[in-house]
Amino acid sequence: MNLRTLLWFFISLLIVPEILAESAPDTSGFDIKYLRLELNASDTSAFISGKAVCKSLITHDLQNICFEFSEKYLVDSVLVNHFPASWMHQNNLLNVYGHFTADDLFESEIYYHGNAGGSGFFSGITNKKDAQWNIPVTWTLSEPFAARDWFPAKQVLSDKIDSSEVILTVPPWCMAGSNGVLAGVDTLPDKRVRFHWKSHYPIAYYLISMAVANYQNYTLYARPYGLDDSLPVVNFVYNIPSLLESSKKDIDRTKDFIEYYSALLEGYPFPDEKYGHCLAPMGGGMEHQTMTTLSNFGFLLVSHELFHMWFGDMVTCASWSDIWLNEGFASYGEYLALNHFEGKESADAWMSQAHAFAFAMPEGSVYVPPEEADNVYRIFNYNLSYKKGAAILHMLRMETANDSVFFKALRDYLQRFKYSVASVNDFINTFQQVTGKDWQYFFEQWYYGSGYPVVQIEWQQIGNHLLLNIQQHGSSSKTPVFRFSLPLTFYYPGGDSTVTIRIDQAEQSLAINFPRRITGIAADTESDVLAKVTVIPMDTSGKYLLIYPNPAARKVALDFYTKDVNRTITVISLSGQVIGKLNSRESHLELDVSHWTPGVYVVMVTENNIRYAARFVIP
Ligand SMILES: [Zn+2]
Repeated sequence: MNLRTLLWFFISLLIVPEILAESAPDTSGFDIKYLRLELNASDTSAFISGKAVCKSLITHDLQNICFEFSEKYLVDSVLVNHFPASWMHQNNLLNVYGHFTADDLFESEIYYHGNAGGSGFFSGITNKKDAQWNIPVTWTLSEPFAARDWFPAKQVLSDKIDSSEVILTVPPWCMAGSNGVLAGVDTLPDKRVRFHWKSHYPIAYYLISMAVANYQNYTLYARPYGLDDSLPVVNFVYNIPSLLESSKKDIDRTKDFIEYYSALLEGYPFPDEKYGHCLAPMGGGMEHQTMTTLSNFGFLLVSHELFHMWFGDMVTCASWSDIWLNEGFASYGEYLALNHFEGKESADAWMSQAHAFAFAMPEGSVYVPPEEADNVYRIFNYNLSYKKGAAILHMLRMETANDSVFFKALRDYLQRFKYSVASVNDFINTFQQVTGKDWQYFFEQWYYGSGYPVVQIEWQQIGNHLLLNIQQHGSSSKTPVFRFSLPLTFYYPGGDSTVTIRIDQAEQSLAINFPRRITGIAADTESDVLAKVTVIPMDTSGKYLLIYPNPAARKVALDFYTKDVNRTITVISLSGQVIGKLNSRESHLELDVSHWTPGVYVVMVTENNIRYAARFVIP
């Protein structure tokens, strides 16, 4: 799912309290095998009528089967195994009564009609005119809790519907898009048209969809990895010739995206069916399985929703706390596509912007705690689930430092949990097995932890010795110290070179042997690391500090030229070892160095906003 950020903040400020889900109803005791929706719909209203047919396996004896279903619908009748059943529809729950015995299969048919149309992004069913093209559209968006706004649903992620059909009867000027393959299009005696969509792939309740409008069909064909036949990419575009003409270039890119992603991940998840798009003025997109609904064909939106076919649709997050597996990954799909098709600089710029979104939430975690996992605005927090989520997946790749291993781990994860659900722990376990490494620390700090590291690096060069004085703190006190690798680029006359250092303490000093005269240092020039880093050259001109005698055999005196200020004074050896550290306001200090090992020592001082250093020698 992807929605415009500004719209996001606007809505979230206004209507967070109303949108919180009620406590979860008990829809357990049965396992949905098959769902068929037969609905009359139109582009002029969100009114629908028809029936939902559901075949389920009873998993333990029940007196009633419970579906979530909006009270805005009137239930006309309910049949169980073709016989009328009693039912109760209240509090957005539909209870169907009977004697349901474990291991029995049962079929429910629920006839209903009504209009539950809403206007927010998370409204389950919406009718709205596309203002730019003056085309009315009715579309659904069930994620995360709104399937019940258009059909009686078991809104449980772990119970995928094994196969499904969506049969939509619409006015003569309309087309209706949905999941799977188009098994038939029939014109009824009254001229209405019936679109029969059918899928045999397991599907999460929130990925079932429909979109109805005056569309034209523009189909192209991709050749995904491992598929002998070509895969149709069905596009339901508003029936305006100039719109199709001007969109073709963007739509056609879908083919390239499918081929790239399927090569990377070794296969397309729904090869027997299709991929597709239905336009709708939703202000973003939604990755309905094999038929994304979206408001435009922009590069990032199309690539994001397509990447969800692997991460979100084929493998669905096991709970809404695990939303990173959907949105963090789909967002990283944008980065991957940019890098592949537009070049590294575009991808770096994307990641830099993702970091800016993450920096805006210094207390935020990617992990959604269970107590917040019923709040749609927390689940789909753009800064955290999407942008920080993508940034940490990228860092996992960087820390793996081996793309073939990293992508093999992603493929193994997909294979292990295909057509099912996975938790973040499932992902971590798979990742650890494939890489043969313990990644707990990584997930503790970046995924479960809060915020990001704020790092200050002071440097100076003495001959071939580059001395770095590194301090970090977490943007949140909940995660005070991070362990990570940070690339530093050293600039020298005539060139530059990059060295990756390991930061793993609140304070540390490093000495690097570097034979050229460094004129400047920049951190993380390719935006790989989610850290706010400041690099400060130390003043070594001598205007702040005099050290004497030098060389010094027994005592060394430090005279500071600034008065009445707090200073942090660190003495390190040329190998980067910290010899001592103190805080002082004295402008004159003496150190007893009579027992120190002969060598060169550096005094580094932090004082308000100035950093300076001087050295002395013990012969
Ligand atoms: Zn998404």
